[in-house]
Amino acid sequence: PALADLLLSRIRDVPDYPKPGIAFKDITPLLADPEAFTALTDELAAFSLAQGATKVVGLEARGFILAAPVAVRAGMGFVPVRKAGKLPGATLAQAYDLEYGSAEMEIHAEDLSPDDRVLIIDDVLATGGTAEAAIQLIRRTGAQLAGLAVLMELTFLPGRERVTAALGEAPYQALLTV
Ligand code: IMP
Repeated sequence: PALADLLLSRIRDVPDYPKPGIAFKDITPLLADPEAFTALTDELAAFSLAQGATKVVGLEARGFILAAPVAVRAGMGFVPVRKAGKLPGATLAQAYDLEYGSAEMEIHAEDLSPDDRVLIIDDVLATGGTAEAAIQLIRRTGAQLAGLAVLMELTFLPGRERVTAALGEAPYQALLTV
């Protein structure tokens, strides 16, 4: 469809970044194009509204760039999930495995209530480890999960199975699968 073609045409493949053998999907050309960035924002806002979300959660750092305008467009609040040590208030923390070692993400749980329905947004789904940890973190806040939306899913990795298992009944949407 036209939207997918537009978005895909604005994503740049960067070979051997951040390491040799890795082809990095760079979304900065899409962000720099007002037509593509607006179309992406509108699509994700429509998905948020369709899921009855009340809050949009973005995952540091590129997830922030996508989720914040979606929240404004959809009339919802924005809540950041940040890497450990960045949020000043009381946080809930979730550890997750990386290729080498592990990391931790945090949220200000007080910014979500049990009445909230949370849509999680990130740019790229690769192994699914980041999104899975965010799903677990949102569940632990006691808020409801409205779903997960990503701009791009890398289909050569089993990320989809991992996040759909973690989501249960909540929907998953990838605007592009490459
Ligand atoms: P995962 O945890 O392996 O699914 O990796 C997803 C996380 O890494 C997301 O937060 C992405 O922002 C980032 N990421 C992984 N691969 C890429 C890429 O090719 N381009 C941009 N971000 C990526």
